[in-house]
Amino acid sequence: MPELPEVEYVARQLRDELVGRRIVRVAVSWPRIVAEMPPDELAARVVGRMVTGIGRRGKYLLIALEGGETLIVHRRMSGNLTLAPPDAAGAYPYVRAAFELDDGRRLLYSDPRKFGRITVATDADLPRVFAALGPEPLDDEAFTAAALAARLAGTKRSIKAALLDQGIVAGLGNIYADEALFRARIHPLRPADSLNGAELAALREAIQAVLLVGIAHGGTTFGRHRDLHNEAGTNLEHLLAYRKTGQPCPRCGTPIERIVVAQRGTHYCPHCQRVDAN
Ligand SMILES: [Zn+2]
Repeated sequence: MPELPEVEYVARQLRDELVGRRIVRVAVSWPRIVAEMPPDELAARVVGRMVTGIGRRGKYLLIALEGGETLIVHRRMSGNLTLAPPDAAGAYPYVRAAFELDDGRRLLYSDPRKFGRITVATDADLPRVFAALGPEPLDDEAFTAAALAARLAGTKRSIKAALLDQGIVAGLGNIYADEALFRARIHPLRPADSLNGAELAALREAIQAVLLVGIAHGGTTFGRHRDLHNEAGTNLEHLLAYRKTGQPCPRCGTPIERIVVAQRGTHYCPHCQRVDAN
Protein backbone atom coordinates (compact mmCIF):
# COMPACT_ATOMS: atom_id res chain seq x y z
CA MET A 1 0.00 0.00 0.00
CA PRO A 2 1.47 3.38 -0.95
CA GLU A 3 2.44 5.47 2.07
CA LEU A 4 3.78 9.02 2.24
CA PRO A 5 7.14 8.32 0.52
CA GLU A 6 5.55 6.52 -2.42
CA VAL A 7 3.04 9.34 -2.90
CA GLU A 8 5.61 12.09 -2.41
CA TYR A 9 8.04 10.57 -4.90
CA VAL A 10 5.38 10.42 -7.60
CA ALA A 11 4.25 13.96 -6.71
CA ARG A 12 7.78 15.22 -7.37
CA GLN A 13 7.85 13.43 -10.72
CA LEU A 14 4.45 14.85 -11.64
CA ARG A 15 5.66 18.36 -10.80
CA ASP A 16 8.32 18.03 -13.47
CA GLU A 17 6.01 16.55 -16.08
CA LEU A 18 2.54 18.02 -15.58
CA VAL A 19 2.77 21.66 -14.49
CA GLY A 20 1.85 23.90 -17.43
CA ARG A 21 0.09 21.10 -19.33
CA ARG A 22 -3.63 21.18 -19.95
CA ILE A 23 -6.08 18.31 -19.42
CA VAL A 24 -8.04 17.89 -22.66
CA ARG A 25 -10.03 14.71 -22.04
CA VAL A 26 -11.02 12.40 -19.17
CA ALA A 27 -12.05 8.76 -19.65
CA VAL A 28 -13.33 6.82 -16.64
CA SER A 29 -13.72 3.08 -17.16
CA TRP A 30 -14.62 2.19 -13.54
CA PRO A 31 -17.12 4.84 -12.36
CA ARG A 32 -16.82 4.03 -8.64
CA ILE A 33 -13.20 5.19 -8.72
CA VAL A 34 -14.67 8.70 -8.82
CA ALA A 35 -15.84 9.74 -5.35
CA GLU A 36 -18.46 12.30 -4.27
CA MET A 37 -19.75 13.04 -7.78
CA PRO A 38 -20.58 11.34 -11.07
CA PRO A 39 -17.63 10.88 -13.45
CA ASP A 40 -19.22 13.34 -15.89
CA GLU A 41 -19.13 16.09 -13.27
CA LEU A 42 -15.49 15.38 -12.48
CA ALA A 43 -14.65 15.53 -16.17
CA ALA A 44 -16.56 18.78 -16.63
CA ARG A 45 -14.63 20.37 -13.76
CA VAL A 46 -11.14 19.41 -14.99
CA VAL A 47 -11.25 19.31 -18.79
CA GLY A 48 -9.76 22.40 -20.40
CA ARG A 49 -7.88 23.43 -17.27
CA MET A 50 -4.11 23.81 -16.98
CA VAL A 51 -2.16 22.14 -14.16
CA THR A 52 -0.72 24.88 -11.95
CA GLY A 53 0.94 22.83 -9.21
CA ILE A 54 1.34 19.44 -7.55
CA GLY A 55 0.96 18.86 -3.82
CA ARG A 56 0.45 16.15 -1.25
CA ARG A 57 -1.41 15.86 2.04
CA GLY A 58 -0.76 12.62 3.93
CA LYS A 59 -1.29 9.87 1.38
CA TYR A 60 -3.39 12.12 -0.89
CA LEU A 61 -1.90 13.42 -4.10
CA LEU A 62 -3.11 16.88 -5.16
CA ILE A 63 -3.11 18.17 -8.74
CA ALA A 64 -3.94 21.88 -8.63
CA LEU A 65 -5.71 23.30 -11.67
CA GLU A 66 -6.31 26.84 -12.85
CA GLY A 67 -9.62 28.28 -11.71
CA GLY A 68 -9.32 27.02 -8.14
CA GLU A 69 -10.04 23.32 -8.66
CA THR A 70 -7.86 20.51 -7.28
CA LEU A 71 -7.86 16.93 -8.48
CA ILE A 72 -7.35 14.61 -5.48
CA VAL A 73 -6.04 11.03 -5.86
CA HIS A 74 -5.81 8.41 -3.10
CA ARG A 75 -4.16 5.17 -4.27
CA ARG A 76 -5.27 3.09 -1.27
CA MET A 77 -4.22 -0.57 -1.63
CA SER A 78 -3.01 -1.01 -5.19
CA GLY A 79 -3.36 2.20 -7.20
CA ASN A 80 -0.62 3.62 -9.41
CA LEU A 81 -0.27 6.72 -11.55
CA THR A 82 1.61 6.22 -14.80
CA LEU A 83 2.48 8.71 -17.52
CA ALA A 84 1.91 7.06 -20.88
CA PRO A 85 3.34 8.34 -24.17
CA PRO A 86 0.85 9.08 -26.95
CA ASP A 87 1.40 5.73 -28.70
CA ALA A 88 0.99 3.52 -25.61
CA ALA A 89 -2.63 2.47 -26.06
CA GLY A 90 -3.49 -0.86 -24.49
CA ALA A 91 -0.10 -1.39 -22.85
CA TYR A 92 -1.31 -0.73 -19.31
CA PRO A 93 -3.57 -3.17 -17.42
CA TYR A 94 -6.22 -2.26 -14.83
CA VAL A 95 -6.59 1.35 -16.00
CA ARG A 96 -9.67 2.85 -14.27
CA ALA A 97 -9.28 6.48 -15.34
CA ALA A 98 -7.20 8.30 -17.96
CA PHE A 99 -6.42 12.01 -18.17
CA GLU A 100 -5.28 13.05 -21.64
CA LEU A 101 -2.91 16.02 -21.83
CA ASP A 102 -2.54 18.66 -24.51
CA ASP A 103 0.75 17.10 -25.66
CA GLY A 104 -0.88 13.72 -26.32
CA ARG A 105 0.47 11.96 -23.26
CA ARG A 106 -1.98 10.38 -20.83
CA LEU A 107 -1.88 10.23 -17.05
CA LEU A 108 -3.29 6.77 -16.25
CA TYR A 109 -4.75 5.69 -12.93
CA SER A 110 -4.53 1.89 -12.68
CA ASP A 111 -5.82 -0.13 -9.74
CA PRO A 112 -6.51 -3.91 -9.83
CA ARG A 113 -8.29 -3.92 -6.47
CA LYS A 114 -10.31 -0.76 -7.20
CA PHE A 115 -10.11 0.64 -3.65
CA GLY A 116 -8.49 3.91 -4.76
CA ARG A 117 -10.50 7.10 -5.18
CA ILE A 118 -10.31 10.22 -7.32
CA THR A 119 -12.30 13.38 -6.74
CA VAL A 120 -12.13 17.11 -7.32
CA ALA A 121 -12.57 19.88 -4.78
CA THR A 122 -12.40 23.66 -4.86
CA ASP A 123 -9.61 25.43 -3.02
CA ALA A 124 -12.19 26.70 -0.55
CA ASP A 125 -13.31 23.14 0.14
CA LEU A 126 -9.85 21.61 0.73
CA PRO A 127 -9.71 22.38 4.47
CA ARG A 128 -12.95 20.44 4.93
CA VAL A 129 -11.67 17.50 2.87
CA PHE A 130 -8.55 17.18 5.03
CA ALA A 131 -10.02 18.30 8.36
CA ALA A 132 -9.52 14.90 10.01
CA LEU A 133 -5.83 14.55 9.10
CA GLY A 134 -3.05 15.03 11.63
CA PRO A 135 0.07 17.11 10.94
CA GLU A 136 2.42 16.51 8.03
CA PRO A 137 5.39 14.62 9.51
CA LEU A 138 7.95 16.41 7.31
CA ASP A 139 6.66 19.84 8.38
CA ASP A 140 9.13 20.80 11.13
CA GLU A 141 6.86 23.48 12.53
CA ALA A 142 3.66 21.44 12.65
CA PHE A 143 5.17 18.09 13.60
CA THR A 144 7.06 18.73 16.83
CA ALA A 145 7.58 16.32 19.71
CA ALA A 146 5.13 18.47 21.69
CA ALA A 147 2.51 18.22 18.95
CA LEU A 148 2.96 14.46 18.84
CA ALA A 149 2.67 14.26 22.64
CA ALA A 150 -0.54 16.27 22.56
CA ARG A 151 -2.13 13.95 20.01
CA LEU A 152 -1.06 10.82 21.91
CA ALA A 153 -2.15 12.11 25.32
CA GLY A 154 -4.91 10.08 26.92
CA THR A 155 -4.84 7.25 24.36
CA LYS A 156 -4.17 3.84 25.86
CA ARG A 157 -3.99 2.00 22.55
CA SER A 158 -0.61 0.85 21.34
CA ILE A 159 1.83 3.29 19.79
CA LYS A 160 1.82 1.17 16.62
CA ALA A 161 -1.97 1.50 16.27
CA ALA A 162 -1.73 5.23 17.00
CA LEU A 163 0.89 5.78 14.29
CA LEU A 164 -1.39 4.10 11.72
CA ASP A 165 -4.16 6.58 12.63
CA GLN A 166 -4.07 9.34 10.01
CA GLY A 167 -5.53 11.74 12.57
CA ILE A 168 -2.42 11.40 14.78
CA VAL A 169 0.10 11.94 12.00
CA ALA A 170 -0.68 11.95 8.28
CA GLY A 171 0.96 9.60 5.81
CA LEU A 172 2.33 6.70 7.86
CA GLY A 173 1.32 3.12 7.10
CA ASN A 174 2.56 -0.28 8.17
CA ILE A 175 6.05 -0.17 6.66
CA TYR A 176 7.20 3.21 7.91
CA ALA A 177 5.51 2.85 11.31
CA ASP A 178 7.53 -0.33 11.98
CA GLU A 179 10.71 1.25 10.69
CA ALA A 180 10.25 4.39 12.82
CA LEU A 181 9.54 2.42 16.02
CA PHE A 182 12.60 0.24 15.37
CA ARG A 183 14.85 3.26 14.90
CA ALA A 184 13.45 4.94 18.00
CA ARG A 185 13.78 1.68 20.02
CA ILE A 186 10.13 1.77 21.07
CA HIS A 187 8.13 -1.46 21.43
CA PRO A 188 5.05 -1.38 19.15
CA LEU A 189 2.75 -2.45 22.01
CA ARG A 190 3.73 0.37 24.36
CA PRO A 191 0.64 2.38 25.36
CA ALA A 192 0.72 5.50 23.19
CA ASP A 193 0.46 7.86 26.17
CA SER A 194 3.34 6.18 28.07
CA LEU A 195 6.19 7.59 25.98
CA ASN A 196 8.50 9.97 27.84
CA GLY A 197 9.91 13.19 26.39
CA ALA A 198 13.10 11.59 25.11
CA GLU A 199 11.17 8.79 23.45
CA LEU A 200 8.77 11.24 21.79
CA ALA A 201 11.70 13.26 20.45
CA ALA A 202 13.38 10.10 19.19
CA LEU A 203 10.17 8.90 17.57
CA ARG A 204 9.58 12.19 15.80
CA GLU A 205 13.14 12.16 14.47
CA ALA A 206 12.84 8.50 13.42
CA ILE A 207 9.56 9.11 11.58
CA GLN A 208 11.13 11.92 9.58
CA ALA A 209 14.26 9.85 8.90
CA VAL A 210 12.47 6.76 7.59
CA LEU A 211 10.20 8.87 5.37
CA LEU A 212 13.13 10.78 3.87
CA VAL A 213 15.04 7.54 3.24
CA GLY A 214 11.94 6.12 1.56
CA ILE A 215 11.50 9.16 -0.69
CA ALA A 216 15.19 9.14 -1.62
CA HIS A 217 14.85 5.56 -2.88
CA GLY A 218 11.63 6.07 -4.85
CA GLY A 219 9.50 4.32 -2.22
CA THR A 220 9.24 0.69 -1.15
CA THR A 221 8.06 -1.86 -3.72
CA PHE A 222 6.94 -5.26 -2.39
CA GLY A 223 4.08 -5.64 -4.75
CA ARG A 224 2.54 -3.10 -7.00
CA HIS A 225 3.99 0.33 -6.23
CA ARG A 226 5.55 1.82 -9.35
CA ASP A 227 6.56 5.38 -10.01
CA LEU A 228 5.26 7.68 -12.74
CA HIS A 229 7.51 5.98 -15.29
CA ASN A 230 6.55 2.46 -14.22
CA GLU A 231 9.77 1.89 -12.25
CA ALA A 232 9.85 0.04 -8.91
CA GLY A 233 11.20 1.83 -5.83
CA THR A 234 14.38 0.45 -4.24
CA ASN A 235 13.74 1.25 -0.59
CA LEU A 236 13.16 -2.43 0.19
CA GLU A 237 16.95 -2.79 0.36
CA HIS A 238 17.10 -0.07 3.02
CA LEU A 239 14.49 -1.36 5.47
CA LEU A 240 15.87 -2.42 8.85
CA ALA A 241 12.99 -4.27 10.53
CA TYR A 242 9.90 -4.48 8.35
CA ARG A 243 9.43 -8.04 7.03
CA LYS A 244 12.82 -9.07 8.46
CA THR A 245 11.33 -11.79 10.68
CA GLY A 246 14.07 -14.17 11.90
CA GLN A 247 16.88 -12.05 10.50
CA PRO A 248 19.42 -10.53 12.90
CA CYS A 249 18.71 -7.04 14.21
CA PRO A 250 21.25 -4.74 12.54
CA ARG A 251 22.00 -3.19 15.98
CA CYS A 252 22.26 -6.17 18.33
CA GLY A 253 21.93 -9.40 16.31
CA THR A 254 18.78 -10.63 18.08
CA PRO A 255 16.35 -12.15 15.55
CA ILE A 256 13.59 -9.73 14.50
CA GLU A 257 10.16 -10.94 15.65
CA ARG A 258 6.73 -10.57 14.08
CA ILE A 259 3.53 -10.00 16.05
CA VAL A 260 0.10 -8.77 15.03
CA VAL A 261 -0.88 -5.30 16.28
CA ALA A 262 -4.06 -3.57 15.16
CA GLN A 263 -4.56 -6.45 12.71
CA ARG A 264 -1.29 -5.64 10.97
CA GLY A 265 1.90 -7.70 10.83
CA THR A 266 4.37 -5.83 13.03
CA HIS A 267 8.15 -6.33 13.09
CA TYR A 268 10.47 -5.38 15.93
CA CYS A 269 13.61 -6.35 17.85
CA PRO A 270 12.68 -7.87 21.22
CA HIS A 271 16.03 -6.78 22.69
CA CYS A 272 16.22 -3.17 21.42
CA GLN A 273 12.50 -2.45 21.77
CA ARG A 274 11.37 -3.41 25.29
CA VAL A 275 7.73 -3.42 26.18
CA ASP A 276 8.55 -2.74 29.85
CA ALA A 277 10.72 0.30 29.10
CA ASN A 278 10.10 3.54 31.00
ZN1 LIG B 1 18.16 -5.27 18.41
